[in-house]
Amino acid sequence: MKTALRNTFVRAAILALIAVPLAAAVAISAQESKAKTVKDVVCGMNVNPETAKFKTTHEGETYYFCSESCQKKFTAEPAKYVKTAKDPVCGMSVEVASAKHKTTHDGKTYYFCSEICLKKFAAEPAKYIK
Ligand SMILES: [Zn+2]
Ligand SMILES: [Zn+2]
Repeated sequence: MKTALRNTFVRAAILALIAVPLAAAVAISAQESKAKTVKDVVCGMNVNPETAKFKTTHEGETYYFCSESCQKKFTAEPAKYVKTAKDPVCGMSVEVASAKHKTTHDGKTYYFCSEICLKKFAAEPAKYIK
C-alpha cells in the first residue's frame, strides 16, 4: 500500500517536471509566431515585414532585408539568393538547387517541374514569358 502511494507521488512529480517546461516552451513559441518575421535571404537575419524599410519584389514575391546593403546584393543577383523559382509553364514552385529541368533563355535561367514543362517552354518561350 505504502509503495503504491509513493509511486503515485513519484509519477505526479515526474509529470509536473515534464509539464512545466512544456508549457513554457509552448508559451515561447506562441510569442515567436506573434512577431511574424521573415528571413532576409542575403544574410539570414529575421526581419519584421511590418517595419522593414528595405524590400523588393522578385517574380511576384516580396523579399525583405535588414539593410540597404543586403537589398542591393539581392537586386544585383537575385538568382543567387532565391531558393525556389516559378515554373513559367505550370506555375509550380521549383527548388532551384535540386532542379533537374532547366534552360537558359535570353540570359535568364528558367526552372521546370518536369521535362514536359521544359519542352513546352523550349518550343514557344515567348508564350510563357511575360
Ligand atoms: Zn541582411
Ligand atoms: Zn511544370
